[in-house]
Amino acid sequence: MSGVSGSMSCPNCGQDVDTYSDWKPINTESMECLHCGLYVATMHDYYLLIDLNERRAEQEPPLEPLTELPKQEFRLSDGETQSEERHRWLKHIAAIYARIRADRTDDAMELARQVTSNEERDFAEKEMYEDDQKP
Ligand SMILES: [Zn+2]
Repeated sequence: MSGVSGSMSCPNCGQDVDTYSDWKPINTESMECLHCGLYVATMHDYYLLIDLNERRAEQEPPLEPLTELPKQEFRLSDGETQSEERHRWLKHIAAIYARIRADRTDDAMELARQVTSNEERDFAEKEMYEDDQKP
């Protein structure tokens, strides 16, 4: 811990709260109010490939889409990032789709389409397509 502890009055309830700021490895700020429950923390995460390419395409001029994610190793804290958690969930959905397709149950496939989001369905169908392309 290289940071500095401090205090301030909570912007929500006005009670005194402890704060903590650090400048290593990047500037971060956090506070939590044990009176009203407000907490503020510097968050970090990584874009999934699909989202990163979307952001790259929005630049002027647009950046070329990437075919795979660069290394994403930096972490502010231990544990899974939200994008890793989301990716694990999408992989789980994709595995269910692949299983349903392998069993050739069209009704179950239709049900899966109804209960998953467009993003989940698109991810699963892309995964199945890529599996089909493998020798
Ligand atoms: Zn408060």
